[in-house]
Amino acid sequence: MRAPVQDTEATGAAVIVIGGGVTGLSAAWWLARQGVAVLVLERGIVGWEASGRNGGGCTHYASPLFREEQHLWPQMDALLGYPTEHRPYRIGVAMDEMGLKRFRRMAEIAAEDGFSATMLDPKALREAAPLVTEAAAGGVFFDFGGHANPQRTVQAYAWALEDLGGRILQHTTLTGFQRRGGKVTAVETDRGVFGCDTLVVAAGPGTGPLLGRLGAHLPMAPARAEMIVTEPLPPMRHGGVDGNGLYGRQTLRGNLAYGGGPHEWLAEEPPPDRPGTPLLRNLAHRVATLFPRAAHARVIRSWAGVIENTPDGRPVLDVLEDPPNVVAATMSSVGFGLSPASGRAIADLALHGSCQFADLSSLRLDRFKNVPLDWRERRGWVPPVPPDAGETAQHMGEFA
Ligand SMILES: Cc1cc2nc3c(=O)[nH]c(=O)nc-3n(C[C@H](O)[C@H](O)[C@H](O)COP(=O)(O)OP(=O)(O)OC[C@H]3O[C@@H](n4cnc5c(N)ncnc54)[C@H](O)[C@@H]3O)c2cc1C
Repeated sequence: MRAPVQDTEATGAAVIVIGGGVTGLSAAWWLARQGVAVLVLERGIVGWEASGRNGGGCTHYASPLFREEQHLWPQMDALLGYPTEHRPYRIGVAMDEMGLKRFRRMAEIAAEDGFSATMLDPKALREAAPLVTEAAAGGVFFDFGGHANPQRTVQAYAWALEDLGGRILQHTTLTGFQRRGGKVTAVETDRGVFGCDTLVVAAGPGTGPLLGRLGAHLPMAPARAEMIVTEPLPPMRHGGVDGNGLYGRQTLRGNLAYGGGPHEWLAEEPPPDRPGTPLLRNLAHRVATLFPRAAHARVIRSWAGVIENTPDGRPVLDVLEDPPNVVAATMSSVGFGLSPASGRAIADLALHGSCQFADLSSLRLDRFKNVPLDWRERRGWVPPVPPDAGETAQHMGEFA
């Protein structure tokens, strides 16, 4: 009997992308723009993980993809044909002299790259961002960077990809690889086998474990982070205001959407569960301190997301040595903002074996070849140890 069409390698594509977050979707879209037949396989729904849950910041001046990030974001709505709600510029609020010093240094680094930033005294800061506390020591206006709406952006990538004939299969989990002649020739999923010439693994925190099954060593430590959203407040001239250990943005409707550490280390990458009250209270307190005129606003939504950390906090964008038709792509906490540029870089890696517009040597996988297996324990990047049940019972007995 003939197998159903969707269960055969015939339904594969020249390039298969594992992961329907911003990294995988952007890569697939850039490939489709160049006429490549591309298929995205996503175990849940697109953008359900960190890509749809983040702060929306697009200002990564320390990245080799920074120039391209800055070049592309202002054009993304036009290129994609759908709104991302991208807004330019970024304001940093310094709560003390130390913070001002840090911003001065950031401004210097950006200037070395040809981007300008202006230090703001407290009065100028409040004119630019009226909700900010009068207790702030000052701030900085970055004449670059910006933010966008993560949900809108995921949707825009997905629709733009489909407009170009790219395919997305949701609720499809990668379970294994088929290899022939030293290359990956197909992927096995819970919905059948899909053949490919080239494979991109952009599975967020799942990238390390999946590549491990191909024999590659990509050490990763997932961490849980949380965000809160307030009811709408009068829009500030610039919605991208960070400070007091918080990152986030004011939405076009006026809501303050903010997150920030401490992030909680996870043993492995489970789907993020609901946010926890102590951290939410802490976030709400810090938002109220940064924006005292918003302290009355109710928190109307909150969520948790999983961040995909590498040991040095930098992405991995590289072609594996073996098998050589696999591109590894994980972004280590800076993936939303960099997604227009990382997707373009991944498309280059998949088609040409190297990035044509930026030097990605600092993002190569082999920088981790000597990282020991117990690196997380050595760093203390491990989940908090739950109290031992036996000991707890004994204690309770003592005090009962
Ligand atoms: C609270 C929070 C705030 C953040 N703030 C910012 C910010 O302001 N700016 C910024 O640039 N970045 C920020 N980040 C980081 C950013 O969200 C991530 O770096 C980025 O979303 C990573 O995108 P991705 O597509 O690589 O991974 P993900 O979004 O994790 O997507 C990977 C996808 O792969 C799928 N997948 C995994 N395993 C499989 C499998 N076996 N088969 C099929 N599919 C699979 C998953 O379901 C998932 O949808 C933040 C993250 C969080 C959690």
